[in-house]
Amino acid sequence: MRLFLLLLGALLMSSPANAQVRPKWTLVIHGGAGIIERDRVTPEQETGVRAGLQAALDAGTKVLEAGGSAVDAVEAAVKILEDDPHFNAGRGAVFTWDGKNELDSAIMDGRTRAAGAVAGSTTTRHPVSLARAVMEAGPHVMLSGAGADQFAREHGLEQVDNSFFGTPERRRQLEVLKSQQSNWFDVDLKYGTVGAVAMDMHGNVAAATSTGGLTGKRWGRIGDSPIIGAGTYADNRACAISATGAGEFFIREGVAHEICARIRFKGETAKQAADTVMAETKALGGSGGVIVVSPTGEMAWSFNTPGMYRAKASAGGERVIAFYGED
Ligand code: ASP
Repeated sequence: MRLFLLLLGALLMSSPANAQVRPKWTLVIHGGAGIIERDRVTPEQETGVRAGLQAALDAGTKVLEAGGSAVDAVEAAVKILEDDPHFNAGRGAVFTWDGKNELDSAIMDGRTRAAGAVAGSTTTRHPVSLARAVMEAGPHVMLSGAGADQFAREHGLEQVDNSFFGTPERRRQLEVLKSQQSNWFDVDLKYGTVGAVAMDMHGNVAAATSTGGLTGKRWGRIGDSPIIGAGTYADNRACAISATGAGEFFIREGVAHEICARIRFKGETAKQAADTVMAETKALGGSGGVIVVSPTGEMAWSFNTPGMYRAKASAGGERVIAFYGED
């Protein structure tokens, strides 16, 4: 009898149905989309970006493997990318027209759909942690400007001088943009925003996004990244999303919520929903990309630009780091 049960157990473990069981955890991150093509990315950039994505995957993986929450994992991964000057978030963020850095970020917990966001923060070292403090410690969802940094100080978050975020390369990009009198989009159309989405061992999903916005932005311009439902969204009933691209179009399309809604109401896979919504965004004129995880263990990305800095890992799964469209 015991032998029979053992054999039955072994048979069930190897059945095709079992192969569909969701992984214990998943993690997908991005470092921006845009005109990322082999002949435009220098070897230094390639090595630096790869190392940054690797370190962010490591940080998120450590949390998830230890049984930590998806929210902790996406915050940990994004904090690494905020400190890395290769990306347009935290240190290395693009400059505003006035030569300052104004940072936007959001985080969302798919368990409860609790969310926190911050726009135009200038002195808080980790905008994603400020977004998390907004989510957890206050009654509000979105804070902006000096008030957001004051909230950060009151909650003990590290403060830095605004010059901490600037780099010579970002200064150069601002100068190029100003000299070209093309004050609308990033000089080299490499958006560089960072984001992470994860599913933890309990099947909960979360999303986080952090950015400096667009080079040469003015008038207090805010993009999609900190707007819940546009650049960031998480809902345990559907998916978690982080976006990068021409924010104005992502706001108009409501990209992140739209993808989750298609999964929830139309039963589309994460990939189908993401591809459809990115095609619709392109039809409006918007370029960029998204990363997606679902509570059933799907991991997907979709972009309508030549490339997107992106990476993924999962329990027992292969680790992938990719840059170009054909990767
Ligand atoms: N989506 C960001 C914004 O519009 C830019 C980016 O993805 O780099 O602010």
